[in-house]
Amino acid sequence: MDEFKKFIGANAGEIIEGLSKVKRYLQHYGYIPDSAKNFTNSFDETLVSAIKSYQQYYNLQQTGQLDTKTVGQMILPRCGNRDVGNQTSHSSHVHSVGHFEYFPDNPRWDKLALTFAFKPENELRENYKKTIARAFARWAVVTPMTFTRIESYSDADIKIAFYSREHGDEGPFDGPLGQLAHAFAPPAGLFHFDSEENWVVEGEPLKSPSRFTAVDLESVAVHEIGHLLGLGHSSDRDSVMFATLPTSVRKVTLRRDDIAGVQSIYGANSNFNESDSQTSDDIVLFGGASDVAPLWPFMTILFAVALVNNIFLS
Ligand SMILES: [Zn+2]
Ligand SMILES: [Zn+2]
Repeated sequence: MDEFKKFIGANAGEIIEGLSKVKRYLQHYGYIPDSAKNFTNSFDETLVSAIKSYQQYYNLQQTGQLDTKTVGQMILPRCGNRDVGNQTSHSSHVHSVGHFEYFPDNPRWDKLALTFAFKPENELRENYKKTIARAFARWAVVTPMTFTRIESYSDADIKIAFYSREHGDEGPFDGPLGQLAHAFAPPAGLFHFDSEENWVVEGEPLKSPSRFTAVDLESVAVHEIGHLLGLGHSSDRDSVMFATLPTSVRKVTLRRDDIAGVQSIYGANSNFNESDSQTSDDIVLFGGASDVAPLWPFMTILFAVALVNNIFLS
């Protein structure tokens, strides 16, 4: 997505090499109808209107232009699931209480006890499996659901696999960063991670301890499980169901919006007490002294540095 930076400042009416990729990006995430095809490199009305919808969703100024903040949001690593089910459901925004959304037609599991299994061919290390199991447990605390790990991949309700690039569904992965993972609405139960990411498991990165490439596995897992249970993306930046996750950020705590969303589908866990939970334990990994610092100042600085030096995610 880094290549999008070259479109900053482009104006409506211009024709720019590669601009069709921005249209495909916006279509992939639900801002241009699936029926649209044969995108040109022209900064046309379709693009302006899609950018405005995107800006509205991400609470950015609706300029209809590829300004710095908009492109800065687009190039963040993110979930591969779309933000909006379709244009109509986005513009009507039927959920007035929270910022969470459901998938179109509100699919849900018709049972509360679900099983999950890991694709045997991935030969995942046990600490990966435990990390993902911990992500399931976070949703079990707030709902009446249970998630049991079983060995049989074919029998499991939720099938967890790591893939790279094209892997037989409609969401091919794209190498490091960009799309990190995606998951299917109930009852499909397909849960896919991009195997080319620099995944961080229990604080240990797969490749190098780099602030610019590290992606926390548990954070992404917690998010994707929300989809597996029937939640779409939330426009609440603090929520786990917000679509983007900056590199080296650990964001695993279900927030009020996430909890309201899932409980509106399955009800609350009888042991769940809203008042004694959900203070955020989000942290920045590999930040040296900023390891224990609050998240926002660091992100703001990182973003400012990125804009000045043009190094974001490069
Ligand atoms: Zn997502
Ligand atoms: Zn997939």
